[in-house]
Amino acid sequence: MNPTKLISRNIDIKLKDIEQIETQCCLCGNKNKEVIKAKKILSEKFTNYEYLKFKSDYMCTDCAKCIKDDRLRKNNFLADEDHIIFLKQNEIENYIFEVGKYIKIPFLFAITRSFKKHNSFKCNLNYDYDYFYIQEEDKKYLFDVKEMKKLYKILEDAYLFFTKEEMITGNYKFMSIEKYGKKKFLKLEEILNKHRGTHQFELLIYILNSEKRNEYIKRKKEEEKNGKKSKTMCSGNVNEHLELY
Ligand SMILES: [Zn+2]
Repeated sequence: MNPTKLISRNIDIKLKDIEQIETQCCLCGNKNKEVIKAKKILSEKFTNYEYLKFKSDYMCTDCAKCIKDDRLRKNNFLADEDHIIFLKQNEIENYIFEVGKYIKIPFLFAITRSFKKHNSFKCNLNYDYDYFYIQEEDKKYLFDVKEMKKLYKILEDAYLFFTKEEMITGNYKFMSIEKYGKKKFLKLEEILNKHRGTHQFELLIYILNSEKRNEYIKRKKEEEKNGKKSKTMCSGNVNEHLELY
């Protein structure tokens, strides 16, 4: 099993120009009896020539299906032998910490931020729900579920006070710090500083749910307008998470 073989089991695309020759695939290297001329599949816009590792003019039908299926470039996805789950940005947080609930082993996880670059043939097959590879277009990195789940709880709360930009760069507005609480902020920054600059950290910031945040801020403004004292601002017991981290 390789990534394109696993994904293509879930793709229903009729390919044209299939030839019956036993030869190697230029992309995955597998020997196949049914192949297609690579130039019939790769468009002029294809730029990932460094991924064509094998000297062959042909491509296997599994790789061809993955390249032809636009959904794999325009969506985040999670796949195993029997499913592909396409995820919107705001849905990733519901899956990434509990992959085993939705998908079986082996599986792969792909994230796109450009919504146009290839991901499928770059992915790694994963055999561990707690520690797996994420393919994010041209970046590949390991995702440590337990560690990142703890961090995400802290970030979700911090996101009610700080923007994504502030957390990514570490350049905070004074007003945001005042509202969050100075003492709590020192602890937060100690934790974020350890992770800042890593792909995992940047992914967590990316998947923070802006709709939830906007609803919260709207509600808070309304409460303030109505003269009510705002209720506790923590989502769950975040002080405890900060202390235990
Ligand atoms: Zn192939």
